[in-house]
Amino acid sequence: MTQQTPADELREAAEKLRSLITFLGDNRGPWEVDTPPSGYPQSINNVGVPYLVANTYEGPGIPAFTIAPYIATMHPGVGAALAKLLRDTHAFHEHDDRPDHGGCDWCGDEDWPCSDVRNALAVARAVLGRPAVPAASEETGR
Ligand SMILES: [Zn+2]
Repeated sequence: MTQQTPADELREAAEKLRSLITFLGDNRGPWEVDTPPSGYPQSINNVGVPYLVANTYEGPGIPAFTIAPYIATMHPGVGAALAKLLRDTHAFHEHDDRPDHGGCDWCGDEDWPCSDVRNALAVARAVLGRPAVPAASEETGR
């Protein structure tokens, strides 16, 4: 198996997100939380579509009223935006392979992968369920 380039990983993660969103059909978001008077189970529903996306339950170690809002916040529209970010990062940021260069031809970062690509790679690897790489901000403290 050949080693994937950063562009390969960004493209693969964007395609995975787009594919998952496509198969959601009418459940593409936004999603909203419905909390019954008793508090649980909280239902996550697609706005305008009579489908239940998921239910969440209270239990030991589960912070009250936090899981459903998080899931609803990360609805497929967020996934579509992330897919676009990954595709755009892949499309614009390129290694500058001219002699005496070597950073990013797009943003001028002297490192390759540049900080934008490293941050996008952290997202891509999370989407793909792979070990994380440090985000650029973690390396520089910015
Ligand atoms: Zn760059």
